[in-house]
Amino acid sequence: MPDCIFCKIVKGEIPSFKVYEDADTLAFLDINPIHPGHTLVIPKEHAENIFEISSENWAKVQETVRKVAGAVEKSLGADGVNMLMNNREHAGQIVDHAHVHLIPRFKGDGLNKWPHKEYKKGEATAIAEKITAAL
Ligand code: AMP
Ligand code: ZN
Repeated sequence: MPDCIFCKIVKGEIPSFKVYEDADTLAFLDINPIHPGHTLVIPKEHAENIFEISSENWAKVQETVRKVAGAVEKSLGADGVNMLMNNREHAGQIVDHAHVHLIPRFKGDGLNKWPHKEYKKGEATAIAEKITAAL
């Protein structure tokens, strides 16, 4: 994808703070980190999001995520790591090249949790069935 900034990072056309690379995946520091050490893991082959990436490349990305998450936590003395993926604009995706965020977390770091709702009676069954039917 000629205009994709992450494809440009893969090709070395724009700089990045590389953390890990193998034949199919790349991990590099997010330029505007939630915490220092916030890392992005991407497939080298362009795919826009979770809906487009091949099963094979997704499996490779996940293996790199697992590997790099451990290194992020250990090296920074973090107390945990969030992995997060935004898919499509209204889910917060800004860069349209699939990427998984690895965010080191620290006790008392003050990052607020997402709100939690409650299901109305019967709603959870109906929604679970709806999702299953779409598979
Ligand atoms: P998202 O909102 O999930 O699409 O996240 C895109 C992320 O990419 C943001 O957290 C940006 O800070 C990060 N980002 C954008 N451009 C670069 C870049 N050139 N190098 C590293 N990270 C970047
Ligand atoms: Zn791309």
